Amino acid sequence: MTDLNKSSLKEIVNLIKSKKISSLEVTKHFIKNIEKGKNLNSFITTCFEKSMNSAKEFDSKKNFDGLLSGIPIAVKDLFCTKNIKTTAGSKILENFVPTYESTVTDNLWSEGAFLLGKLNCDEFAMGSSNETSYFGNTINPVGKNLVPGGSSGGSASALAASLTPATIGTDTGGSIRQPASFTGTVGLKPTYGLCSRWGIVAFASSLDQAGPMTQNVEDCALMLEAMSGYDKKDSTSINKKKENYLKNLNQKIDGLKIGIPKEYRVENMPKEINDLWKKGIDILNKSGAKIIDISLPHTKYALPTYYIVAPAEASSNLARYDGVKFGYRSSKGNNLVEMYESTRGEGFGDEVKRRVLIGTYVLSSGYYDAYYIKAQKVRRLIKNDFDQCFKNVDAILTPSTPSSAFKIGEKTNDPISMYLNDVFTVPANLAGIPAISIPAGQDSEGHPLGIQLISKALDEQKILNIAFAMEKSIGHKQSLNRWWE
Ligand code: GLN
Repeated sequence: MTDLNKSSLKEIVNLIKSKKISSLEVTKHFIKNIEKGKNLNSFITTCFEKSMNSAKEFDSKKNFDGLLSGIPIAVKDLFCTKNIKTTAGSKILENFVPTYESTVTDNLWSEGAFLLGKLNCDEFAMGSSNETSYFGNTINPVGKNLVPGGSSGGSASALAASLTPATIGTDTGGSIRQPASFTGTVGLKPTYGLCSRWGIVAFASSLDQAGPMTQNVEDCALMLEAMSGYDKKDSTSINKKKENYLKNLNQKIDGLKIGIPKEYRVENMPKEINDLWKKGIDILNKSGAKIIDISLPHTKYALPTYYIVAPAEASSNLARYDGVKFGYRSSKGNNLVEMYESTRGEGFGDEVKRRVLIGTYVLSSGYYDAYYIKAQKVRRLIKNDFDQCFKNVDAILTPSTPSSAFKIGEKTNDPISMYLNDVFTVPANLAGIPAISIPAGQDSEGHPLGIQLISKALDEQKILNIAFAMEKSIGHKQSLNRWWE
């Protein structure tokens, strides 16, 4: 009997398609794992009965052939799922049940997958450790006292612990790639507009992008193929032909030019991150790629720019949570304004309030030009840096994060040190270009470290191919002793 905990998504799809295993057996396996993995707190909602019924329905179908035939999948609780509670990790949406399905999840279901449950995340995807969730923090299966990263921390934790064969997250400033890096998994943030944002709880609309989180690069190509595609319901969706990322995946990277940006050698960078980067460069060199030193001069402004643009958009997006249209309503207050105030005061957590305050401030008259407009201008310069570099290189290699997973509670009282975690990931969001993180090594305590590949817009196939080749050479196979069971 195949050990499903050691099987990739692609292998499970093939087992189901060749009738070696039924969708129901696969579903029961993951449900058992989820029940045994409760201590990780990676799920906010499970829908086992519905999943079992979907599996039975799939097994009774004849001649269905989809990319995700018969696969149960848990998704970040930021994707609206019809008739299934969607909380965004917030008290204000604690009891929100959407009447519609997000386009991206709908795309997965059209390929034969179905919902297994909703995964924990930082409140409204604001955070880097999953500790801002109203539903409690998620544990990293790599170590009891470690955060899984954020904001897609529940997704990363569930994936690394084999509680779901693959998953999806969202990435506004690093929320797919950083948790992937912290849990020894693969995460890709696609080009802005490749995956529809329709039906995803909005954080910062000009930065938000959904993407796959998987055990390996092949699965990542498979999931991206399944979830991406033009959607007329999202005005920022790119209208182009769908790609066959999996079929076109290959390891031939001979002659490709890879840029190494000097500005990513940040001050006080731990030696192990530098070593990891060197290791990545060596691997690419040996595979026949050409390494080129490049400069992205405005990199140092990316983080401050992000922490103006993202809160500005968040403050505007979150204005809709007023106790009238969605979710929680406070019973306090003697008039409408007081009801609004107490609903938002009670419904939002501290980090969300901080962002709304910063966002409102940078957008307020008198400060708008000095902060928001200036940040938009700097954002353009950051994008121009990348455009310039991609005239000479095919992709850029950087570390994914400045450290491995940190301890639970270590940064909760220091927002700046929490924000610094995003230093290598936010530039790709600001420029709207794709980036992938793959596991590339371990720190001195054996905790995983990720390496990041960035390319120009719509070059997902290229970074998938480079990542595929690197993955082969790195030979990383994470094996956790399932201590949480
Ligand atoms: N950590 C970043 C933030 O808190 C990124 C979050 C995200 O990508 N959703 O804003």
